[in-house]
Amino acid sequence: MDACLFCKIISGEIPSHKVYEDEKVFAFLDINPVNKGHVLVVPKNHSTDLVECSDEDLCSCMSAAKKIGSKQLEALGAKGFNTLINTRPASGQIIYHTHIHVIPRFEGDGFKHWHGKSYSNDEERVILEKLRF
Ligand code: 5GP
Ligand code: ZN
Repeated sequence: MDACLFCKIISGEIPSHKVYEDEKVFAFLDINPVNKGHVLVVPKNHSTDLVECSDEDLCSCMSAAKKIGSKQLEALGAKGFNTLINTRPASGQIIYHTHIHVIPRFEGDGFKHWHGKSYSNDEERVILEKLRF
């Protein structure tokens, strides 16, 4: 994909701070980190988002994310980490090359989780009927 920012980062056309690379995966520091050491893990094969990404590439990326998160615990003194994938505009995806955020977490770092909603009446059953495989 000629115009894809992350493809250009993988090829080296655009500079990045690489933290990890293997045959299938490239990982580098996010330019605007939630916390310092926030890493983006991307498959070398271009796919626009999680739905389009092959299972093989996804597994390779998740395996790398586990290594990187573990490294954040050891090397940065992080107390935890989040792995997060935004898929499509409504989720907040802005770069259309599949990527996993690996965000190191520290006590009181201010990164907030979502607020849960409640189901009313029969809603839960209706949703379940739609979602169930
Ligand atoms: P998304 O919202 O698509 O899941 O996240 C895209 C991420 O890419 C954002 O966290 C943003 O900071 C990061 N990003 C955007 N442009 C660049 C860039 O040129 N270099 C790097 N290293 N990260 C970028
Ligand atoms: Zn790409």
